[in-house]
Amino acid sequence: MAKHTVTFIPGDGIGPEVSDAAKRCILATGVDISFEEVHAGAETLEKTGTVLPQSVIDSIKKNKVAIKGPITTPVGSGFRSVNVALRTAHDLYACVRPCKTYEGVQTKYDNIDLVIVRENTEDLYAGIEFEVFKPETKDLIQKIESLSGSKIRTDSGISIKPISITGTKRIVKFAFDYAIANGRKKVTAVHKANIMKFSDGLFLKVAREVAAEYQGKIEFEDKIVDNMCMQLVQSPQNFDVIVLPNLYGDILSDLCAGLIGGLGVAGGANIGDDIALFEATHGSAPEFKGKNKLNPCAMIFSAVLMLSYLKEDKAAQLLEKATSEVIRLGEAVTCDFKADSDNPSIVGTKEMADAIIEKINQLRND
Ligand code: NAD
Repeated sequence: MAKHTVTFIPGDGIGPEVSDAAKRCILATGVDISFEEVHAGAETLEKTGTVLPQSVIDSIKKNKVAIKGPITTPVGSGFRSVNVALRTAHDLYACVRPCKTYEGVQTKYDNIDLVIVRENTEDLYAGIEFEVFKPETKDLIQKIESLSGSKIRTDSGISIKPISITGTKRIVKFAFDYAIANGRKKVTAVHKANIMKFSDGLFLKVAREVAAEYQGKIEFEDKIVDNMCMQLVQSPQNFDVIVLPNLYGDILSDLCAGLIGGLGVAGGANIGDDIALFEATHGSAPEFKGKNKLNPCAMIFSAVLMLSYLKEDKAAQLLEKATSEVIRLGEAVTCDFKADSDNPSIVGTKEMADAIIEKINQLRND
């Protein structure tokens, strides 16, 4: 029996291509892992009648660790996000997305090394929504009007934004503990407490209380989200660990991915108390499905995080080093690493993974 069994969800769109690349790279490190492959998403719906079979949830519960390719969520209608459902089903409350500049990426910035810690279970992502013109929406509007004295247009749809003391306390604590464990210096809490006093205001109040417990160990500051966006674009080097409610965390994750060369290099993890699911920040890019074109590195960096989580530090370091070397050399990289998209040296997803595996083998023999 292998030392670790990990649930493997290939995903859809470019998911199968990038997750296969990551799986091959993980195995090349020599780490003793076996993968239990299960499927979710639109294609699974056609075959099984559900987008998220119970067997997927059970496999993750059993193995405690999963790696997943992106899964498409239709905009506006259709099924709810499988990605959100998986995080909710396993209470994976912390989304951790390290953003680091690697030499060789196309970016205007150098020396960025920050980490987004996004709350993953609350906020406008809680999935509590009321559709326009539905009888329950009409009732809710009347109730809110009578309680608040505010007017809401009758042709409104409503999404609820719950932010709790419990949810905030655990994510901010997670951010501080992460900072300590990873030799970080500062935590920045991001909010819009000046406008949403009872949701973001609560987030800020609780964040300050938690920060007080870490006084003298880790520096703390808070920023209003719009100002934070500007400061991240102007001087990202000023930030270290950034903790945010769910929606701002989602948006700023992509902003920070943009700072370090794009979604193709932004890996991530969803972590709960005893279960973790590793996935790239990017989505399924359906227009590139089957084209062997996009960058596998975001999935590979997610795999690096998974290996660290499994305490396979040597394998994690080997995989990160080999990947960053291939990026630095720029000889076998996907199109997003090149300024000109018709550069003849550009390779596909699979070929970039092959180059990383070759580099892993070289480093293992050194
Ligand atoms: P996307 O991340 O798929 O694509 C946004 C842009 O980034 C596109 O230009 C795409 O070409 C580029 N990109 C994505 N992955 C890349 C890679 N590996 N290398 C280089 N460039 C890359 O975002 P989207 O278009 O907003 O979403 C597409 C679908 O993915 C939607 O259905 C969305 O719901 C879903 N999605 C899933 C997840 C997840 O599974 N966790 C996350 C985000 C979005």
